[in-house]
Amino acid sequence: MTQTRSVYNFSAGPAMLPREVMLQAQQEFCDWHGTGLSVLDFSHRGKDFTAIAERAEQDLRDLLKIPSDYSVLFCPGGASLQFSAIPMNFLRSKALYINTGVWGDKATQEAQKFGDIVAVDALTEDQGNTAILDEAQWSQYEDDFDYVHFTPNETIGGVEYSALPTIGKGKWVADMSSCILSQPINVSDFALIYAGAQKNIGPAGLSIVIVRNDWLDRPRPATVPSLLDYSVMAKNQSMYNTPPTYAWYLAGLVFQWIKAQGGVEEMAERANIRSRALYQFIDSNDFYRNPIAPLSRSRMNIPFILNDESLNDVFLQQAEQHGLMYLKGHRSVGGMRASLYNAMPQAGVEALIAFMDKFAEQNR
Ligand SMILES: *Cc1c(COP(=O)(O)O)cnc(C)c1O
Repeated sequence: MTQTRSVYNFSAGPAMLPREVMLQAQQEFCDWHGTGLSVLDFSHRGKDFTAIAERAEQDLRDLLKIPSDYSVLFCPGGASLQFSAIPMNFLRSKALYINTGVWGDKATQEAQKFGDIVAVDALTEDQGNTAILDEAQWSQYEDDFDYVHFTPNETIGGVEYSALPTIGKGKWVADMSSCILSQPINVSDFALIYAGAQKNIGPAGLSIVIVRNDWLDRPRPATVPSLLDYSVMAKNQSMYNTPPTYAWYLAGLVFQWIKAQGGVEEMAERANIRSRALYQFIDSNDFYRNPIAPLSRSRMNIPFILNDESLNDVFLQQAEQHGLMYLKGHRSVGGMRASLYNAMPQAGVEALIAFMDKFAEQNR
């Protein structure tokens, strides 16, 4: 699969996979390790898929240093399905949702179907820029919640915590869909971490859930559907029904790739270099601007606005001609957005900056 020119996918999701992973999957697609069968053929209960599944879990455990009293689940459905599963499993009296963007708001709306939710809007305007409020301004909330939900990186607005909240530490529930595996985390601070796979892990339709085992034993309503019941999923090694086997396998290849690159520390280093380069370019150029206060800027999703928005369509058109794909911003934000997940090579960011520079020169 040689390409004559490089094409980069800047989409917020589904995102690009590492080239090496694509090539490996292609190479073993029809015949996995001399079995004469594709991973697509494997019984999820057979020894070959069991080996793939166990290795994927172990590699993720190694990468995030997941303590042994946590379960790792490979769940069908996207992160949005976890918006429902979380309150169904764990909401008893009330929960706190600290919201910094669209996904947190959506998680809140879903949770409100199941009980009492206290929602804090933790965004503010700081000298014309969007920023995450200082925690002191909302920490008046008492710490008597079943759990505290937040979104460390908000994919649509391009807003990320530079330091996580402290309220409810230990019973945090975090949507890490767009930042998992992009930096080291202390898993013990969380009761549950979840992430849709299609940003930093693999194909869409799979989500990863990391949950502390003492939470699995909590009584829950008998009405919780089996596939959304984390204790049922854990008891059955995520194979209560036929799991999304191929997505699981690809996720495993991505975990192996991250390990081979040097782990999450290396991913963090690269993410810093990539995002710093693009922010620096945007800030130094009066043709473009980013609306987020520096301390709250995402390393993964970088929205930017052309000061002359009538040029949006021609910008996108010419970007595509340069192999720079899916730069259109989310419909609720407008402008552009460059998503720079783990699989985005530095060369992709450099190609984007070179194009933006040239485009600004030609359209001033
Ligand atoms: C993409 C995304 C979601 C939604 O994921 P789906 O798999 O489409 O349900 C939820 N939360 C965050 C932070 C996301 O980036």
